[in-house]
Amino acid sequence: MSAREAIGVDVGGTTIKAARVSAAGVIIAQASQATAKTPTDVLAQIDALIAACDHARVACIGIGVPSPVDFRTARIFPGGYVDLSGPPLTGRLSRTNGRPVFTDNDGTMALVAEARLGAAKGSANVVMLTIGTGIGGAAMLGGKIVQGKASAGQLGHITVAYDGLDCACGRLGCLETLSSGTALGRHIANAGLPATVTAEELLSRNDAQSRGVIERWIQPLRSGIESLAATLDPEIVVLGGGLGKAACTALASVPPKSTWFQYRVAPAICGSEAGVIGAGLAAFERLP
Ligand SMILES: [Zn+2]
Repeated sequence: MSAREAIGVDVGGTTIKAARVSAAGVIIAQASQATAKTPTDVLAQIDALIAACDHARVACIGIGVPSPVDFRTARIFPGGYVDLSGPPLTGRLSRTNGRPVFTDNDGTMALVAEARLGAAKGSANVVMLTIGTGIGGAAMLGGKIVQGKASAGQLGHITVAYDGLDCACGRLGCLETLSSGTALGRHIANAGLPATVTAEELLSRNDAQSRGVIERWIQPLRSGIESLAATLDPEIVVLGGGLGKAACTALASVPPKSTWFQYRVAPAICGSEAGVIGAGLAAFERLP
């Protein structure tokens, strides 16, 4: 049993990654490709990457997608920057690979990796926010992923400005519209700074303009985290994605407004492999 392995796939907006991982979450083999433009091509890439990592010891396959997923049926809902809601991904892959395939949102996969091996190891109540092109998320309560009736965890879509900007979800002022990587780019442009400026550069400067950009980016994140702490009462909030570490540093300059809600904030430590490791581990956990 201990020799069994899983393949984890992480469908990102820029790169699709796959890795064969042990039950302990150690990567044994991996492959990646730049994400194709159409859902059909993305499915072909998933097939090719699974084949590149495959081995007789692989017992199951986990796939993280940047969209809400019905955990009961593996149906992928529309949304996210790669829309895989059309093709029947999970069933087709199960048939072609002859092994159980488990599909879930990429935020959930990242949370599984951080909870088992990373920043939230040992914690049963965890909120994960992945800050990249958009803001993804997932929550764990009592050691179990919060699933809701189908696809809980769209934490980038909690409101932080009721009269704010239009969000892709149809509402106004979602956290994602102000504190994602896309939003940071807009804050930088609005300040008249070059588009090449990074969050790390802004954080290393001590001028009012840089501080202003960081504050406009991170104040809504603090508000969002405080709302999540008020509703879910996690021990730890883990910030992942490409901007997780920078967001964590920036949050230090925006202390919590309330003392009612106590929580730690920590950067994710599984890095860019969190998605594939978490997908593999989540698939193991779904095995009968
Ligand atoms: Zn939204």
